[in-house]
Amino acid sequence: MSPRDFSIEVIRRLKSEGFTAYWAGGCVRDLLRNIEPNDFDVATDAPPESVRKIFGPKRTLAVGESFGVMIVRGPKSSGQIEVATFRREGEYLDGRRPTTVEFCTAEEDAQRRDFTINGMFYDPIEEQVLDYVGGQEDLKKKIVRAIGDPHDRMSEDKLRMLRGVRFAATLGFLLDPVTGDAITQMASQIIVVSPERIAQEFRKMLIDRERATAMKLCESLNLLQVILPEVIEHSIESQLENWTELLDILHQLEAPLFETAFAVVLRDVAGHAIPNSSHQSVEEVSEICKRLKLSNRVTARTSWLVENRHTLANVTHMDLAKLKRLAQSPFFPDWLTVAQAEVNVTRQHLDEWNHLQNFLDQNPPEDISPPEL
Ligand code: ATP
Ligand code: MG
Repeated sequence: MSPRDFSIEVIRRLKSEGFTAYWAGGCVRDLLRNIEPNDFDVATDAPPESVRKIFGPKRTLAVGESFGVMIVRGPKSSGQIEVATFRREGEYLDGRRPTTVEFCTAEEDAQRRDFTINGMFYDPIEEQVLDYVGGQEDLKKKIVRAIGDPHDRMSEDKLRMLRGVRFAATLGFLLDPVTGDAITQMASQIIVVSPERIAQEFRKMLIDRERATAMKLCESLNLLQVILPEVIEHSIESQLENWTELLDILHQLEAPLFETAFAVVLRDVAGHAIPNSSHQSVEEVSEICKRLKLSNRVTARTSWLVENRHTLANVTHMDLAKLKRLAQSPFFPDWLTVAQAEVNVTRQHLDEWNHLQNFLDQNPPEDISPPEL
């Protein structure tokens, strides 16, 4: 059973027990855009105890019972879905989950969501949209707009500022100007959000094809100045116009790793202006990764990419054995791309890379052990 069918089963079952249940949030937004959602969240008026009783203790897991979220596991391959009880939320403390929740109606649940396009429900059995927040209209107009007063909504959970940027960029929507103004005014407060939550949003922005739009928006709303002040300080001139030029180089990769995109973003920090003087600034890169609580692996890869980008830019000068070893790495296309992101790429570099490409086409790497990264 597909996750979609399983979530419909869950809704049917909740309804047969006399409860209300809908698809909610992001999946409704995606369905209305004719895009296959990556997960189907269910919202219901059934309290968590009833959800557990209906699906049985073996198939349910309370992930956040106190705030009304249960995981219901389906039969094989249908995965698991989140079933959340309609709720109102108290204030997010330190940008974390709210300390108090009260269960409520669907309409009130819609009001606690972040953006109108994320605030709709859909009844897959009646095939009916429930839209209490004007989400359909904004979806049509392609606008990311906070539900209610943008100031209040951003104050409750400052992460919403970054989420707003991400949705605007990745969906290709306009950020509603009033919402944008509220973000600009409150940008400095993004600092209270935990680094993990910030990093998660940042990752989603940077692995998306629209990463340059996201970075531009982050900078123009003053969020980047707070999250990555180093990037702003070290850049020679305003990045704003440069983001596209800088980041679109990643389009040649099918699915660039977050590390790859992040290394390109951080390349100025590592003293791009003074080639070969990158050593002490690589430490700064690794500090930034640590500040964002990135994993050791991601930190190591990002730093490695930044540190080696000059060497990599002259890749054909390496001895053949080393080159073949490096070419063996699944990481190879990513690091060649980082090397190419150097703005001072010369005609000579391009020739070298073309050479290298031809060489690799004619001499496919043999089975040799992957390089250390
Ligand atoms: P995606 O999964 O593509 O990132 P999404 O909209 O599904 O997008 P989730 O983080 O999965 O985002 O959240 C599901 C829904 O929960 C959202 O659509 C929104 O209605 C609500 N939501 C999530 N995070 C917040 C938040 N910080 N503030 C208010 N509502 C939120
Ligand atoms: Mg989601």
